[in-house]
Amino acid sequence: MNAKPEKFIIDGLRLDGRRPDELRPLKISAGVLKRADGSCYLELGANKVMAAVYGPRQVHPRHMQDATKAIVRYRYNMASFSVGDRKRPGPDRRSIEISKVCRDAFQPVVIKERHPRLAIDVFVEVLQAGAGTRTAGINAASVALADAGIAMKSLVASCAVGKVDDTLVLDLMKEEDNYGQADMPIAVIPTTGEITLLQMDGHLTRDEFGTGFKMAMEGCQKIHEAQKEALAKCYQMKDDGGEQVGE
Ligand code: ADP
Repeated sequence: MNAKPEKFIIDGLRLDGRRPDELRPLKISAGVLKRADGSCYLELGANKVMAAVYGPRQVHPRHMQDATKAIVRYRYNMASFSVGDRKRPGPDRRSIEISKVCRDAFQPVVIKERHPRLAIDVFVEVLQAGAGTRTAGINAASVALADAGIAMKSLVASCAVGKVDDTLVLDLMKEEDNYGQADMPIAVIPTTGEITLLQMDGHLTRDEFGTGFKMAMEGCQKIHEAQKEALAKCYQMKDDGGEQVGE
């Protein structure tokens, strides 16, 4: 693990040179996996994540079927090589919790009534972790769901806000996440402003919560634009008969 820095903000800039309200560099590519119904590869700062969506498809085991609507399943997994110290492979408490809250983040947008008895499976694989993997995963899963043609009311966009050196900062990097005073990831339906995930570690005053929340919402709007651009680019390539990445 990196050592705790003495200061997180020097002359108004963060350790990686960002202003407090700046996102890390973001790259999104849709439709990158040939065998998935929908997919997305996303980089956010040091994070590298792959999302794959399968479905709507038969539910196994069958007793999990819902006769009135589709079920949405979400598996978040960190590869053992995704962090500095090798992570023990397989699910643990953290990944089970993240899978649950991320699945819940999509419940209000997926139009499940369209596909009774079927399942929509979302897999998020973190290939390289650098703080904010749940938010990166949600952003990628959202694009992968759209790429799979799953009926949704909107995309979901996600980012975190936190506090270091008594200053609110958007989209925390590793040191800020590990040693900062607060970390609050949110996910939002950008078209309505509805919140579908909100978690918080640490402490924020009521005013900081309000200001930080606004910063995170603005971050989500920027991410939403990048998600739409990636999907438009992917559809354009398909229309042009171009090959998808990975073919
Ligand atoms: P998030 O990645 O959503 O911010 P956490 O706050 O739980 O979730 O984790 C923060 C960061 O700590 C991760 O992005 C990753 O870089 C690191 N981390 C998480 N779990 C492990 C682990 N088992 N081993 C090493 N580093 C980890």
